[in-house]
Amino acid sequence: MAKRDFYDVLGVNRDASDDDIKKAYRKLAMKYHPDRNPDNPRAEEHFKEVKEAYEILSDEDKRAAYDQYGHAGVDPQAGMGAGGASSFSDAFGGIFDEIFGGRRGGRSNVYRGADLRYNLEITLEQAAFGTETKIRIPTMDVCDACHGSGAKAGTQPKNCPTCQGSGQVRLQQGFFSIQQTCPKCHGTGRFIADPCTTCHGAGRVKQHKTLAVKIPAGVDEGDRIRLSGEGEHGVNGGPPGDLYVQVHLKPHAVFQREQNDLHCEMPISFATAALGGEIDIPTLDGVAKIRVPAETQSGKVFRLRGKGIKGVRSQAHGDLLCHVVVETPVHLTERQKELLREFEESSRENAAQHNPRAKSWMDRVREFFAAT
Ligand SMILES: [Zn+2]
Ligand SMILES: [Zn+2]
Repeated sequence: MAKRDFYDVLGVNRDASDDDIKKAYRKLAMKYHPDRNPDNPRAEEHFKEVKEAYEILSDEDKRAAYDQYGHAGVDPQAGMGAGGASSFSDAFGGIFDEIFGGRRGGRSNVYRGADLRYNLEITLEQAAFGTETKIRIPTMDVCDACHGSGAKAGTQPKNCPTCQGSGQVRLQQGFFSIQQTCPKCHGTGRFIADPCTTCHGAGRVKQHKTLAVKIPAGVDEGDRIRLSGEGEHGVNGGPPGDLYVQVHLKPHAVFQREQNDLHCEMPISFATAALGGEIDIPTLDGVAKIRVPAETQSGKVFRLRGKGIKGVRSQAHGDLLCHVVVETPVHLTERQKELLREFEESSRENAAQHNPRAKSWMDRVREFFAAT
């Protein structure tokens, strides 16, 4: 069969405006839409034809080529080949999304319950070694007084008078009848004339439940533990949601955690830094000793391998990193000041040797001033 002229397909003149073409397309697309013509196999053919004509005539370049060369100008192999092959669902996109709205989703009133999140604060030690704790969470339970019906004892919910119990109402809009959730009963299909006094018709009452939560060793800030089925109840027989326990670490007095490593500050005295010595270091599993060598500077880091945290997903232990801070002594007695002055005096005699960093800095400062 010879291909029909695209202007004839849309029923417009050759000088039709873009707007006219769009209007003609919408009208015909609705007329031949397969949803409206379930028993007419020709409708789908027409629909595709209309769509093809519109794709060419709504595109300025393609329309010009078509006007000049006819169907050959918009080679069906090269140009429309791709368009013709486009699936029907593509054709249903675009304007049909606006027209059909949510109806195409196939609404049902059975919903899975919502997931819930519970923020749980634990100590660093609990995170490192794991713990078991109990949490109390609010929950909605079936009302005992009405056994969940929401109707006062001795009465029953009736079918909703607006939707006759179907939960859906049909609205006529032009060609289309659109199905919507019933506004009176919100899709439940039920109408309660005499609500239960305990739950006020909801069928559920607020309760609390206590759950045991096992925190695995190694968890970190932001990790989530899923308690399957402990979320909100489903609606109309839908499955319950899950409860996610989100872990938060309380700040620790000594350690900062970085992934599986622990960091701590290690203040040492000026004399220990200079002469060396042994320092007790707290770790998560007791006290460790560190030998501080003589002439240790502020900022030096001592790494204690394996004294960090064992990862929750890996078997590797992190390290403990101790950052040395040399503390300037304060609240000195006259005698101590005297000793330090004496010490300073003796250091000055050979400053380059005792304070190489200060010496090199002074030299650079001098060069800087000499250059300016
Ligand atoms: Zn009740
Ligand atoms: Zn209703």
